[in-house]
Amino acid sequence: MKPSILDYTLEELSSKVKPSFRAKQIFNWTYTKYVDSFEDMKNLPKEMLNELKDEYLLNPLDIVKVEQSSDMSKKYLFGTSDNYTLETVLLPMKKEKRDIEGKVIQEAKWTICVSSQVGCKIGCSFCLTAKGGFKRDLSAGEIVAQVLWLKKDNNIPNNKAVNIVYMGMGEPLDNLENVVKAIRIFNEKDGLNIGMRRQTISTSGLSSQIKKLGELNLGVLLAISLHAVDDELREKLMPINKAYNIRSVIDAVKAFPIDQRKRVMFEYLVMGGLNDDMHSAKKLVKLLHGIKAKVNLIYFNPYPGSEFKRPSDKKMQEFKEYLNKHGVICTIRQSKGLDISAACGQLKEKTENDTA
Ligand code: SAH
Ligand code: SF4
Repeated sequence: MKPSILDYTLEELSSKVKPSFRAKQIFNWTYTKYVDSFEDMKNLPKEMLNELKDEYLLNPLDIVKVEQSSDMSKKYLFGTSDNYTLETVLLPMKKEKRDIEGKVIQEAKWTICVSSQVGCKIGCSFCLTAKGGFKRDLSAGEIVAQVLWLKKDNNIPNNKAVNIVYMGMGEPLDNLENVVKAIRIFNEKDGLNIGMRRQTISTSGLSSQIKKLGELNLGVLLAISLHAVDDELREKLMPINKAYNIRSVIDAVKAFPIDQRKRVMFEYLVMGGLNDDMHSAKKLVKLLHGIKAKVNLIYFNPYPGSEFKRPSDKKMQEFKEYLNKHGVICTIRQSKGLDISAACGQLKEKTENDTA
């Protein structure tokens, strides 16, 4: 497979192209002007364009399918050059701001949910991505390409900041090297210029990898997919808990460097009749004691053949209120894009069934 321009930080690209100042120009065409081909890089000499074309891909992904939901979230299915598919979701969040005259204006804000692997090795029992098994890690360029495509396809200008969450398909900390590379490329001032604090890594809790990521001290935010408060249930839902139990995850979080103004997010996937009781809520409060945490409750999103149930609205509210009353910040994630099957792995599954 040919490498892509998107695989490199500016420093790396500068050591590959001669003279090195051309790297900045290539970055500019790629990440600011969103050009479609090397030929569009108008200020580069012809021989250089030919060399680039021979040695590199400009973008390693193709758009296979796009689904738009009634709530404006959009789900993209991408194809790799070796014919795998992966998905990415664009989530618009409106934010109210006041202009200089004090009038309320709606400011568009975007969050992009990226995939880090094709499939996943972790094998959580509630997750559709896990059902298809693991195919391969995504390269740094394939992670970067997802964001670049979404910005380009939705006319989001380069200077408009987006947030990135590594919550699509795959376990980002199981592909740490490429994910860290992608984080750095996203952060390039001459590239997409996405701040470290705008990038959130979501993990099923690979404690030793959380430690490694922490040691790099990048300034990214951390989200832990907790989903259960006792080891017995968590092991059933997430086999990774046998290697890294709840205690080890909590200890790794406590050692993770986080900006004083920020919090570690704990994701709690609520499944009807399984982990939605007050006893669990109580245990969760205890578990998070001493951590600057915020909890995000997620409705389980059922899919054909799934063995778990969506919880009732009443149970979700009660759970949230208990946490809030006991000093834990908690929000309920509004399931964006339910009508386009937006929980991870679900668009991919549907397309494969449609075309079967
Ligand atoms: N592997 C990482 C990141 C990708 S999973 C992790 O597990 O954190 C992203 C999120 O999607 C996880 O919090 C996961 O629990 C959630 N998810 C998986 N299947 C789901 C479903 N059927 N309904 C709702 N959320 C789901
Ligand atoms: Fe992998 Fe995350 Fe799905 Fe678990 S929830 S199988 S870790 S993608």
